Amino acid sequence: MTVAVATRPKRVLVVEDEEAIRQTLRYNLTREGYQVSEAASGDAALASARRERPDLILLDLMLPGMNGLEVCRVIRQEMATPILMLTAKSTEVDKVVGLQVGADDYVTKPFSLNELLARVAALLRRAEMHSQRAAEPLEVEEFSGFRIDRAARTVHVKGVEVRMAPKEFDLLSLLLLNPGRVLSRQTIIQTVWGSKFFGDSKTVDVHVRWLREKFENFDQLPFRITTVFGVGYRLDRLDREPRAAEAS
Ligand code: CA
Repeated sequence: MTVAVATRPKRVLVVEDEEAIRQTLRYNLTREGYQVSEAASGDAALASARRERPDLILLDLMLPGMNGLEVCRVIRQEMATPILMLTAKSTEVDKVVGLQVGADDYVTKPFSLNELLARVAALLRRAEMHSQRAAEPLEVEEFSGFRIDRAARTVHVKGVEVRMAPKEFDLLSLLLLNPGRVLSRQTIIQTVWGSKFFGDSKTVDVHVRWLREKFENFDQLPFRITTVFGVGYRLDRLDREPRAAEAS
């Protein structure tokens, strides 16, 4: 089996705390022509996925700290990267839960390398076909003079850069990915701050206030962040342009 070489090598993030398995996966994936990066914990996986935007994530279910299901749920809220779940458990329940939180496929340990590699290739092929229809709609969003570039981590309003702290950017980015949907403080904390965050949910309120302050001097901002009492926050798009990203 070979990987198409017409384009850049596909990047695979391997998330597994057992070093021996990680090494085996790295060795075999590299030999197949993939560019492999590794993470040994859920938090490292999230950081790496956000930084590197891999083409596929191979995600072990049993991880120290934040487990694979939590990682999967958070990643799925932020990006469409295919996720192949790896697990020692083979009960139907785990499989269903894994697929419910957004995993695309599932391999049970002990796995056959050939089967795993075949599934990796199949998922990448499927993602490639999908991305040819909707080329990375979420990396850059631009509407009515507003622009967010998630790769460069910049925000512009009518050509003027709005500087933000990292968490402010992550919060705005998350809200923009979910226009018209209320996000609870808990969801926001888990996605923006991670499961190891021990502060209280007022942190979210403070950051939302800071975000609003950053934009208050712009007239005709094409979105509004609304407080939904007792629940959380919702970003409403005020522009009327139809967007392909929302239709798909
Ligand atoms: Ca493990």
